[in-house]
Amino acid sequence: MVKRELLFNGNEKQVYATDDPNLVIFRYKDVTVAYNNVKRARFNGKGILDNRISSILLGYLNRKGVETHFVEQISDREQLCRKIEIIPLEVVFHNRIAGTLASKLGVPEGYKPDDIVLDLCYNNDELGDPLVNRSQAVALKLASCDELKQMFSMAKRAGTLLTRLFDKAGLELVDAKMEFGRAADTGAIIISDEISPDTCRIWDKATGEKLDKDCFRLDLGDVSEAYAKVLDKLNSIKI
Ligand code: C5P
Repeated sequence: MVKRELLFNGNEKQVYATDDPNLVIFRYKDVTVAYNNVKRARFNGKGILDNRISSILLGYLNRKGVETHFVEQISDREQLCRKIEIIPLEVVFHNRIAGTLASKLGVPEGYKPDDIVLDLCYNNDELGDPLVNRSQAVALKLASCDELKQMFSMAKRAGTLLTRLFDKAGLELVDAKMEFGRAADTGAIIISDEISPDTCRIWDKATGEKLDKDCFRLDLGDVSEAYAKVLDKLNSIKI
C-alpha cells in the first residue's frame, strides 16, 4: 500500500489517498477542537489513543456485521479505510440525554429515557450542525429515504452493540455520534469517520467520571489521561 497525496487536512485528522482508488489512510492528530472549532488545544498522545480506540470499536462493528469504512490499523496514528462519498449527516444515538440535547429539551444532564433516542443533524459548520428531520434531509438531497432508513437502523444496531461492549468494560456509553458514507467500491451505506471518546460520551460505571471530550469542553482534567483509561478498560476485556 503506497501513501499518496493529502486529500483533506482537518482539525483533528488528515486523509491521504493511496495507490488503490478505493482505499484512503486516516491519520489522527493530537489536536482537539470543540464548540464548532471555537475552543482548541493539543494533548500529547491523544491522536494515538483515538486511533487505537476507534480501531478497536470499528473493527468490532465490522465483525458483528455492521459495515464500517475501517479496514485495519497500520501504525500508531494511522488507519487504512475504505474510500467513501460523504453523506453530510450525523446520527446521534442517546442512551441518556446529555450535552446540547439536555439544554435543548430542558432536562437534567444524564436524564435516562425508557428507550434510546436517535437524532439527525446536518453536518454543516457554518450552520452549527443543526438538528434536521428526515424530510428536510431528503429535501436538501443529502440522502434518500431508503438511505436514511438504513442509517437509522445501522446506528441503532451499532449503538446497542457498543453499549454492551462498554458495559462489559465497566463503562457506560451515554451517547455516540455516527457518520455515514457511500462506499466507493460497492456504493453500500457504511459507517465512516471515527468512533472514540471524541465522538461519544463515556462515563465510568462505578464513579460516574466523564472519560470523553467533555473533559476538554468543560475543563475537567487531562484529556489523554481520560482516553487512556477508556483504552485500558477496553483492553481488559475479550473483544
Ligand atoms: O454536542 P452534543 O451534545 O450534541 O453531542 C452529542 C454527541 O455527539 C457527543 O458524544 C459528542 O461528542 C458527539 N458529537 C460529535 N461531533 C459533533 C457534535 C457532537 O462527535 N460535531
